[in-house]
Amino acid sequence: MRYLFLGLWLALVTPPFPTAHANLPELPDLGAPSDDVMTPSEEKRLGEAFFRNLHQQIEISEDPEIQDYISSLGNRLASHSDMAKQRFHFFVVMKPSINAFAGPAGYIGVHSGLILATRNESELASVMAHEIAHVTQHHLKRAFAAASRMTLPMAAATLAAILLGTQSPAAAQAALIALQAGSLQSQINFTRANEQEADRIGLQILTASDFDPRSMPAFFERLQQSTRFLGYNIPEFLRTHPVTSSRIADTRSRADSFPYRQYTDSLAYLLTKSKLQILSTDQPELFKQEFEVAMERGTPNQKAAAQYGLALIFNQQHEFDASKKLLSRLLAKFPDQPQFIHALAQVEIAQGNVAQGLKRYQQALQRFPASNVLKLEYAEALLASGRFRKARALIEPDITERTKNHPVLYKLLSQAYAGMGETAEGQRYLAEYFYAIGDIKGAIRHARLAVKMAKGNRILTAIATQRLRFFQAEERAMKH
Ligand SMILES: [Zn+2]
Repeated sequence: MRYLFLGLWLALVTPPFPTAHANLPELPDLGAPSDDVMTPSEEKRLGEAFFRNLHQQIEISEDPEIQDYISSLGNRLASHSDMAKQRFHFFVVMKPSINAFAGPAGYIGVHSGLILATRNESELASVMAHEIAHVTQHHLKRAFAAASRMTLPMAAATLAAILLGTQSPAAAQAALIALQAGSLQSQINFTRANEQEADRIGLQILTASDFDPRSMPAFFERLQQSTRFLGYNIPEFLRTHPVTSSRIADTRSRADSFPYRQYTDSLAYLLTKSKLQILSTDQPELFKQEFEVAMERGTPNQKAAAQYGLALIFNQQHEFDASKKLLSRLLAKFPDQPQFIHALAQVEIAQGNVAQGLKRYQQALQRFPASNVLKLEYAEALLASGRFRKARALIEPDITERTKNHPVLYKLLSQAYAGMGETAEGQRYLAEYFYAIGDIKGAIRHARLAVKMAKGNRILTAIATQRLRFFQAEERAMKH
């Protein structure tokens, strides 16, 4: 329902924003086909601003392992879509609600609650394939084009609020106005067509990527059934993607045309779930028993994931020997599994055996020099143990145009420089970090400090001054 609404919605939303009064953007003309056009670079700019703003509204996982898993899965699916060449960016939103959404320029977010609600990897893949299909079929293009007529920061904030279903006052007000706007039925019809198309194309992507087509109707049906018990508390995913019985039936009959066979979950999927389960609770000890039971049954991968979950809980509770015992057993079976290497190194470092822990990362990196995950984890361990120069040497080559999708890199590099006593460089990268997470005031504050501290260093002064001016211009744009 959101899709067609959005254009109208954004137009109506503008006045209630207190900051929008001074300089109202022109209301989008929803009728003219030329308005649908948005150049790829305009959409990219909107997507980047959208992603920055999201950080201000919700927590986006900075865990390198979780991030790596969701992007590998997403990219595997996207490579089997019609837009195999388009760059997507997949990320995990740390929220217990069941939701996934596609923003501008291929930014696709999946809530941790949705990952945990899936019973197998194919179910997770089917939701992501459905989102990818919304992107490849340009279902939101018109809405994005309408949004792009607002100032960029405003468009980004509004899109983020709507796609997240955030209960912010501005978004709530917008929803009310949009509902009052009427002509609901035609918009719902339009949405059904979109949803059906996303199911159909999504299923093609899913099967081409070698996942179980039957998982798509199975997951959507379970979601739909859950609404009977949850009442008003329906999964956010269903608010943006209404599931109907006929949609499920259509998808099921399509899925049934594929020959039946068994599919197994990847170890990475199961480990990600174990970790998310622990990260999503204040009382991980409650899962102890569940993991202990699961360790004794299921496939070897399922058993390993349960052992891993238990080892992480032991580590959190400072029962290091128990954690170590489980992880050593896991590494004997899966010597190359980066999650196990990292977890064991963490236990060793927590026990005070820093040299041994760091050596473990170093040896693993020699075997897998291309592993960005290991590199990041090693850098974090180096920083934590005061080896700033080494950490800097590891991270700095990875600072590129694409770092904006991984703000944590800026933060780590800033810590490395600060630790080395190069405070101006430290402030400069901290400013980049704040900008990348949509905190423009923080970016300005630290860029100012960088300029101040860079006195005497002409090159750094020039860079920091230029960035400060850029951030200030962005802040001014927000006020219109
Ligand atoms: Zn949908």
